[in-house]
Amino acid sequence: MRINALPSGNGFNFEISHAPEKSLARVGTISTPHGDIATPAFIPVGTKATVKAVLPETMKELGAQALLSNAYHLYLQPGPDVLDEAGGLARFMNWPGPTFTDSGGFQVLSLGVGFKKVLAMDAQTFRSDDVIAGNKERLAHVDDEGVTFKSHLDGSMHRFTPEVSMQVQHKIGADIIFAFDECTTLHNTRKYQEKALERTRLWGIRCLDEHKKLTLERSEKPYQALYGVIQGAQYEDLRKKAATDMAALRSTDPDSPIGFDGFGLGGALDKKTLGTILTWMNEILPAQKPRHLLGIGAPEDLFVGVENGIDTFDCVLASRIARTSAVYTMVGRNNLSNAINRRAFEPIDDECDCYTCANYTKAYLHHVFRGKEIIAATLATIHNERFIVRLVDQMRAALISGDYFEFKEQFMGRYKHLSGQARD
Ligand SMILES: [Zn+2]
Repeated sequence: MRINALPSGNGFNFEISHAPEKSLARVGTISTPHGDIATPAFIPVGTKATVKAVLPETMKELGAQALLSNAYHLYLQPGPDVLDEAGGLARFMNWPGPTFTDSGGFQVLSLGVGFKKVLAMDAQTFRSDDVIAGNKERLAHVDDEGVTFKSHLDGSMHRFTPEVSMQVQHKIGADIIFAFDECTTLHNTRKYQEKALERTRLWGIRCLDEHKKLTLERSEKPYQALYGVIQGAQYEDLRKKAATDMAALRSTDPDSPIGFDGFGLGGALDKKTLGTILTWMNEILPAQKPRHLLGIGAPEDLFVGVENGIDTFDCVLASRIARTSAVYTMVGRNNLSNAINRRAFEPIDDECDCYTCANYTKAYLHHVFRGKEIIAATLATIHNERFIVRLVDQMRAALISGDYFEFKEQFMGRYKHLSGQARD
């Protein structure tokens, strides 16, 4: 007899333990075959199966519960077969916990539009599909079947379809994977956003079909949870439509269709309207499934996410700015390369409990950044990742104890800096 239903009790689960009134916030636990994640949680990014400059053991010590890598980068190098043979992403990179991969859609389509910032500061400047359609230099072309793109490494041509993205992510073997989606920008026309949304919906069905097929074929492997991605840019009706559609989406087999295990909230998001847009989606999405906000990680945005119903976040910002000597502190961002730190014989932040702050001074960090020593990136990244991981842990604790909004007011009252957003 051919087995066509996925087994129940597959090792993936989401349990909500607290859901405070008067907000969409919730506290819970995501269980995966490689361990649990207490939510809300910040998931540090190890794009190419490494958090740049930091050992996995150190990431564990600083409180990271899971890591997120990128399917596009790992597809190009070392290739999904290598990760499969190695026993999957977590074992390959010696990470003793859960892992995520994003689908590669964002990176592949970024090649086409050349945008790096997801949160455009001013979405009203112009609106044109030229940012995707007209540029001869672009490295990616999207059609209804998938995306053809040129490798940023060697210029070779590749094609991602929903099926390819699923095959790649199954071989990489992360616990939580994402459906292949078309990520637009705030500058696209309304008409294009509608077209991209429908394409993402149809790709979602193909992802579910391929995911189910691969899960059955590879039943000896740990279960991988598939999240659908909600797009729709800044349009209320499109965001609501996408949330409704993705929540209802099922694979096409009639006898035991599957839906998504959770949802990724993605795409063009304007910092000023982030909370409103999240509310549109999260009031519609089923409460019992986890929600991940893709590529958002600045302190002020993490608060907006948590109180509007986000369970997990990922962002490269903490590690990326650390390598340029920018560090978070309770009173805003500091730049360790600045001359003021030359004789600052005190930690980056005396309220921080990280390894760097316990053992090193700003004067030493200033010295190693000025001298371009490799340890500079390591020490600054440890501090920044700890700062962000701990901040979300503190939000979780405040949600449980019932003083979340007091904690937010106290934190934001001191932390004034408005920083940008980034995905790798
Ligand atoms: Zn620190």
